[in-house]
Amino acid sequence: MEDCHKPALFIGPKGEQAQIFAGLWQHLLDVTMMRRQTRFASDPEWSPQSVPGNLLDAPAMRGALESLLALLSNEIPTFSPRYLGHMVSDVSVPALLGHMAMLFENANLASREAAIVASSLETEAINLLAAMVGYDPKPARGHFTSGGTLANFEAVWRARYRLDHWLALGVWLKLRGYSDAPLFTWAHCGWERYYQEVSRHGLSERDLMEYSGVLVGPLAMSRLAAEELDEEWPEPVFLVPGNKHYSWPKAANIFGFGREAVWGCQLDEAGRLSPAGLQARIDEAEAAGRPVLMVVSVAGTTELGMIDPVDGVSDLLAGLEASRGLHLWHHVDAAYGGYLCSTLRGDGARELSPAAQSALGAIPRANSVTLDPHKLGFVPYACGAIIVPDAESYAVSSIHAPYLEESPEAKFPSWSTTLEGSRAATGPSAVWLSAQVMPLTVEGHGRLLNQSLRVTRQLYGVLASVSADIRMLAPSDSNVVCFAIAAQGDASSVANQKTESVIQAFRDSAELSATRTQLGCDNYGDLIWQLVTGWGGSVDSEQLTVVRMVIMNPYLEADYLTEGIAQHLTQTLQAALAELPA
Ligand SMILES: *Cc1c(COP(=O)(O)O)cnc(C)c1O
Repeated sequence: MEDCHKPALFIGPKGEQAQIFAGLWQHLLDVTMMRRQTRFASDPEWSPQSVPGNLLDAPAMRGALESLLALLSNEIPTFSPRYLGHMVSDVSVPALLGHMAMLFENANLASREAAIVASSLETEAINLLAAMVGYDPKPARGHFTSGGTLANFEAVWRARYRLDHWLALGVWLKLRGYSDAPLFTWAHCGWERYYQEVSRHGLSERDLMEYSGVLVGPLAMSRLAAEELDEEWPEPVFLVPGNKHYSWPKAANIFGFGREAVWGCQLDEAGRLSPAGLQARIDEAEAAGRPVLMVVSVAGTTELGMIDPVDGVSDLLAGLEASRGLHLWHHVDAAYGGYLCSTLRGDGARELSPAAQSALGAIPRANSVTLDPHKLGFVPYACGAIIVPDAESYAVSSIHAPYLEESPEAKFPSWSTTLEGSRAATGPSAVWLSAQVMPLTVEGHGRLLNQSLRVTRQLYGVLASVSADIRMLAPSDSNVVCFAIAAQGDASSVANQKTESVIQAFRDSAELSATRTQLGCDNYGDLIWQLVTGWGGSVDSEQLTVVRMVIMNPYLEADYLTEGIAQHLTQTLQAALAELPA
């Protein structure tokens, strides 16, 4: 009996828990209104009748609202377990309530003085996320962003600050004949070495400012390097996995590095970043005298849900540091997969593969990490976060703070240390409230994600058994399922046409939604070759089209709902396959 009245974590695809949600929502409104009534209790009440301009035309308001709601009734039903498309699903009740409670406060995180409570909530929420990914929350720093893209930009801003300081020092030393090491070496010298040199030569901030490419611009530095050092100004590169999430070319564009600065590293046959491929790119960058602005590994790739070997990458970078004193910034883009770390906290069965666990377990060795609570955190948009292990990694060339001076507000970011100016506090509030009732451990949030990993395996099995022509990609490290359609001996171009028709069948069907993705042979060559030769075909196209499903909907926890989805999937696919030309 008890359990019937316990609020559920989600409202339900049919609003099954709407009553209970409505009770909580009403309570939220009551308390919010009570705050207004009692805050300045002796003030006179406002009478809208005395200010006609403030009156709402009730029928017009109602009509406009009806129009909006009518429009929204045609929006994609991401709340339904039938939605197996992009990395989105229903949001949780605590996240929704946390988000809505903050809407009434309309707090702006741009400055601590404008939002005292919201600012400390943000710090607490960042600490919770930091602990989830394995950073020590005490020294960790970070803030919420509007999403993973912005969080990635925040990491670039910080990595560039560090690189710029080290390069500026190198230029100063070389100009005065104290060093003949290439600028590449100075660009990765490490803070310890940096501070040694700064103190040895009694350098002040001002001395280095004129050699800061960030402050004087790369053109001026390029002239100086050519005229006085007889060297080319070293343009930095981003080393990212070959599948290059669109946020990296965007970052290069915005920060003025250009398209050519984004270097893709080879993926292995499973579609994960290959540490050997990364090593080759680092060697190439060194040979070309191009400093590495950052190395990016991805935990939960957008295409296949793969988790790059963050541990292997960390080992490689630690080796470079130990043997050659080269410090390369390692950023983990865990926008999608970061929340899977909750399955690693506390005692409980683990559904992730040992390799995935070990990769996620290495996140605390990285210099920065991106998380997207609005994906596997079941938090409403727009909510991303950037987290770094310590204040040193959080520093940026602040607009008003003097160069080299650490922001005094380090623990409480303000407009000057975030790319965004005004920032909503709804995300931190949602993350905070959610973590109170769904702790970021294997007993809480992790239980839900473990369940989605089990459902993913179940649906994978169902799909694989529908027809021999359904060619499953190897199981993903997380909860993404991909497959192509091909008969024995089909060339990849023929398979692409068949897969496209099946995707069209999904689009035309009101039953289910799925997405597609195109894997390019340039990055996924090994994976594609293995798959296509596996069905006896040849690769005669630049890319392989696959159906892609993200299995993150929380309602699939119920077996009978999963079975219903499995049936719809089977029927839709059988019908689509029957339509294919023989
Ligand atoms: C979703 C995602 C992003 C971008 O995040 P937004 O929240 O859409 O800005 C970046 N990287 C990866 C790996 C992602 O999955």
